[in-house]
Amino acid sequence: MSLRSRLTTAFLVVVLGPVLVGAVFVAAIMSHLSESRTQALEQSAVTNVDSTLGTICERVQASVAAVAMNYRSGGHDNAREMADLAVRRAVVDGVVFVGMDAAAGASGVGAAAPEGSWVECGAEHEADAQGSIVALAAEATVQNADGTDSRFTAYRVVDDRFLTSVASAADADLVLLDGRAAPLAAGNEDAGRWTATEAFLPLRIGIPSTEITPMYWTLAAMVLASAVCAMALAAWLSRSTTRPLAEVTAAAERVSDGDLDVRVPVHGTDELANLALNFNRMTAQTQAYVQALTASRDQMRGQLGWLGQTLTATLDLDRILEVILDTAMVTTNAEAGVIMLVDVEDSQLLRQRAGEGELGMDGPASVRLGEGVIGAIAAGGVPARGRIEAGRLGRWKRAETEPDARTVVAVPFSGRRAVESDQWSARRILSDDPASASADTDDGVLGVLVLYDRIAGQDFDDGDVETLKTFAGQVAVAVENVLLHRQAQRLSLTDPLTGLWNYRFLQTSLRREAERARRHRRPSALLAIDLDLFKAVNDTYGHPVGDQVLTELARRITGQIREVDLAFRHGGEEFMVLLPETDAAGASAVAERLGRAVAGKPFKVNAAEGGLELRITVSLGIAVLGEHADTASGVMAAADEALYAAKAAGRDTWKIAAT
Ligand code: GH3
Ligand code: MG
Ligand code: MG
Repeated sequence: MSLRSRLTTAFLVVVLGPVLVGAVFVAAIMSHLSESRTQALEQSAVTNVDSTLGTICERVQASVAAVAMNYRSGGHDNAREMADLAVRRAVVDGVVFVGMDAAAGASGVGAAAPEGSWVECGAEHEADAQGSIVALAAEATVQNADGTDSRFTAYRVVDDRFLTSVASAADADLVLLDGRAAPLAAGNEDAGRWTATEAFLPLRIGIPSTEITPMYWTLAAMVLASAVCAMALAAWLSRSTTRPLAEVTAAAERVSDGDLDVRVPVHGTDELANLALNFNRMTAQTQAYVQALTASRDQMRGQLGWLGQTLTATLDLDRILEVILDTAMVTTNAEAGVIMLVDVEDSQLLRQRAGEGELGMDGPASVRLGEGVIGAIAAGGVPARGRIEAGRLGRWKRAETEPDARTVVAVPFSGRRAVESDQWSARRILSDDPASASADTDDGVLGVLVLYDRIAGQDFDDGDVETLKTFAGQVAVAVENVLLHRQAQRLSLTDPLTGLWNYRFLQTSLRREAERARRHRRPSALLAIDLDLFKAVNDTYGHPVGDQVLTELARRITGQIREVDLAFRHGGEEFMVLLPETDAAGASAVAERLGRAVAGKPFKVNAAEGGLELRITVSLGIAVLGEHADTASGVMAAADEALYAAKAAGRDTWKIAAT
């Protein structure tokens, strides 16, 4: 059963029920009242008729008694006189004398005594069997002196006139029920209802009609009219109640199908209008949310695409860090952020490697592990977030070198980390120099991803921490990947014994340098270095000691050259050093310095077995690109030639290639 029909039914029951019950009650009362009124009317009509007839009878009886008394006291003349008086006064219609003395003559006074049935006043009247009732009479008897009786009968003729006068005195319609074919009647014969009296005369008494049927009809019409009104009202009420609900329902269905443009018409200001209004507001808000979500999803998609591309396509760590930081900031609505990595020289120092947004700091930030907010979080290895108040985040106090922000979230990350090695200067690890990566790695804190000041002043939440963990993981992987890549690169281009560049890289570098020197007309020098009489070292102390000498020599060479210079192990016990932006004079100075660095201090070998000091010297040949040769092979040959010249000159010296 629909809400609408339920409402209609309820309304009809509530409104029509009492109307119907009331109508039945009123009808019952009306019929009861009508019945009692009719009975009362009957009662009073009968009483009226009886008392009128009673009065008439009393007067007739009084008249006949007076006549009889006058006869006794004054003889028949007096009696006649009295009878005349009564007739004249219309108390009676006539008096009949019986048994008076002859002198009296007439046997009656007044109208001729009618023929027919007479009814005696005071006597019980007999059944209908008698014929027409023509008179109402009363009798009196007087005993004469001679012992005879004289009888007097006074009467009222019962005719139309009589009946009419009784009817008007009793205020009733009357019909005389005697033996007559056409009964005597007085008053309105169409009376509504009839009753009867049998005191003295058998009379049917008519009383006015108390017909109430028309009132029943009126009542029924009123009930019908109110039923029609109630049904119309119920229909309107249920329609006006259910229509907005139906509209909201239809709209809700469309919303559930994904149509958020739908709006419900608002009628008036009642509760249903309020419902519609709030439904519209809710839908509009949902729509706005969906739009915002879609926009942010699209932005995120773009950002993730960019991130993915960057991660797969580049080994440029700075670029990777920058993209990851950017994406992390967009995702969490942060205004600024940094990625701090553990310093390569000092594993207790965190250095800013990428930074975005205004941090209010001059230059890249750095902080010691365990110090300040970021240092403490990185040292703890557990992410943290919160509001920085009065320079503190919980129990941690902000370090001078940290940005002064309102809110912060920091996620540390760890992974395989570069470890210092003998041959590799730790300060170069994580620098752009592919030679810098270490061969060894170790698990530990790599750095920390930190975001500051969420837009609109909100705090970062646990969801942000979870998101940043993902990004921090990516940073760790990226750093590891770059380190691994550098390591692989280094392994393929370097010499495992000394860690110097190998012959392959020498060729590459020389070709590049030859091209550069030719284009810019700038000199670049190449040194060829060969150990003097090295065969004897091997033969005397064994190959392993020879290897230790080679390793120490590599260390001394790299210790004597600039950052931009490259040292190579050419093969066996031959080395080369490429000196960019250096002419023959500059190269001679380097050769001189190198020679002294080797010969000036004995080589300590076999330290484990007590130690051994060897005096080692080298011979060097110098050739300059653009001066002695223009090609890689040319300059190598020229340097070798100069080296042989140095050997020929007695060793432990240097020579410049012949021009
Ligand atoms: P000089 O150059 O002064 O003319 O004399 P030399 O004895 O050094 O002669 P040469 O340059 O021809 O040296 C070749 C020797 O170097 C042969 C070998 O014993 C030694 N050698 C070459 N490669 C290695 C190496 O990788 N390890 C060791 N221990 N010795 C090597
Ligand atoms: Mg040699
Ligand atoms: Mg040699």
